[in-house]
Amino acid sequence: MRSQRRAGTGPELALRQALWRRGLRYRVDAAVPVPGVRRRADLLFSGPRVAVFVDGCFWHACPEHGTAPRANAWYWGPKLVRNAERDRDTDRRLAEAGWAVVRVWEHEDADAAAAVVEAVVRGRAKPARGRGAGPTRSPTAAGLGEALGRS
Ligand SMILES: [Zn+2]
Repeated sequence: MRSQRRAGTGPELALRQALWRRGLRYRVDAAVPVPGVRRRADLLFSGPRVAVFVDGCFWHACPEHGTAPRANAWYWGPKLVRNAERDRDTDRRLAEAGWAVVRVWEHEDADAAAAVVEAVVRGRAKPARGRGAGPTRSPTAAGLGEALGRS
């Protein structure tokens, strides 16, 4: 069993490297400066106010791989539901504070995910952007074209 809090898993490192190659600079495992949000973002872009979370398929109940474990379902069911609720709560609080949230599943292609993050970050770097646009999913769930088309 992997631990939930980890410093740089493989998928996260791959995303960081892909973003670095694209010339983006960010803070790693940083506290989000929003009251009431005690979660740390995996990647944080302070200027454009973009928080990136790389979600583990199991812990965050990915629709493709996040099947509920049969063993000890009485334990894992509520725990995973709480995780998902916490994610939505984090998304909402950040959006209310004017932050953009990008969630990436650990199973996603790092370069495709980096393209989504880059589009959001560069889009918000321009002046007079809308605020609180809500969470952005990278390609699998949201559709790459949709995410890119918003900037
Ligand atoms: Zn998955």
